[in-house]
Amino acid sequence: MIRIVGAGMVGASLATAMAKQGHSVCLYEKSTWAPSGESDARVSALNQNSLDWLESIGIRPAVHPFKRMHVFAERASSDLVWEDPHSMGALVVNNALQGAAIESAKAAGVQLEYGRSLRWDDGLWVDDVPVQSDLCVAADGARSQLRAQVGLTLQPRDTGQNATFLRVHMDPNFADTTAQVFLQTGPLAFLPVAEDQAVLVWSRDLQAEPLPDSAERIAELAASAFEHRFGRFTALGPATQVALYDGHVSQYHKDGVVLVGDAAHQIHPLAGQGVNLGLADAQALVAAISKRGPGVPALRQYARERYWPNEATRQGMRALQHAFGSPFVPLAALSALVLRTFSYSNTLRRASHSIASGRYNQG
Ligand SMILES: Cc1cc2nc3c(=O)[nH]c(=O)nc-3n(C[C@H](O)[C@H](O)[C@H](O)COP(=O)(O)OP(=O)(O)OC[C@H]3O[C@@H](n4cnc5c(N)ncnc54)[C@H](O)[C@@H]3O)c2cc1C
Repeated sequence: MIRIVGAGMVGASLATAMAKQGHSVCLYEKSTWAPSGESDARVSALNQNSLDWLESIGIRPAVHPFKRMHVFAERASSDLVWEDPHSMGALVVNNALQGAAIESAKAAGVQLEYGRSLRWDDGLWVDDVPVQSDLCVAADGARSQLRAQVGLTLQPRDTGQNATFLRVHMDPNFADTTAQVFLQTGPLAFLPVAEDQAVLVWSRDLQAEPLPDSAERIAELAASAFEHRFGRFTALGPATQVALYDGHVSQYHKDGVVLVGDAAHQIHPLAGQGVNLGLADAQALVAAISKRGPGVPALRQYARERYWPNEATRQGMRALQHAFGSPFVPLAALSALVLRTFSYSNTLRRASHSIASGRYNQG
């Protein structure tokens, strides 16, 4: 029996894949609500590797493909534009992916325990009953309790920024374009989720002047920060805010408990890689277990394969956050130079495209 704690996007996808490999799987989720795509302002940009893997295990959420990615920096003259006439990836509302993954898990025979959890105390327990397990996976997110109970530590670093999400109505002419502008106070992303709707994710220094309370005003400020290149935005609901942390465990498994997704690593969302890393973890864990069985050798192989791609991505996001956020002219100029170099160098463009499409994250 494989026990997975946390039916988020990563845990529910992993449960589906494990069940499809013939394992008995029990999935514990502390929430009691059923996710619904409609209400969620949170959205993820899935890269091609994630999309291919989800498709291969039969998870097919409603996604919104994009063909163009547009990046520029405040005060820099260069833009970076990636284009692929077929598709560069797709945006998915987090609840929609989580809901589709849970439905696929149920269809694959996963036993789903809503409103319940599993704890480690010199062994695994559900309520006051000890349980046996061939493997226990902590997919319970950034504040993983199971990680702490088993004695694996992650010291989250405050990025000094928070993120504001806002769903907006937008010009359908830009439905296949995602965009990001690096402002001095932090990056602002434009992520279309339907023909005429997008989610704005605005990461901002805590020291900067706070965004206004009015969602309508935030939408106007965002359109202006994008220099009106993507038309007008009209707010479709209240804005929500979360604090941003980053961190990474140094050890991925202990006493038969293994970490995946945000339980193992959190990164700044500026390149939208968080859930992609988590799905790549799930993919690597399934492959290691199908080759070696659910014991320590498979967990070692999984940890070896995933540590460096996850750490390199985390460090890359930190470097970008600092380079583009600098108030000093030389660093801002360097950011412009980086963008220009990316625009002109085929090698760098190919490398960055492989990061964007997920091939770099496969370990
Ligand atoms: C502002 C922001 C924007 C982001 N944008 C992007 C993006 O564009 N693209 C991208 O790829 N990533 C993005 N991310 C990151 C992405 O959201 C996370 O990487 C992703 O949600 C991690 O998924 P997960 O399944 O590992 O964890 P979670 O989504 O946190 O899921 C954990 C699950 O475990 C459950 N749980 C928790 N504790 C327990 C317990 N004790 N027992 C049982 N169940 C439990 C929770 O209820 C939840 O269902 C963003 C993150 C932030 C903060």
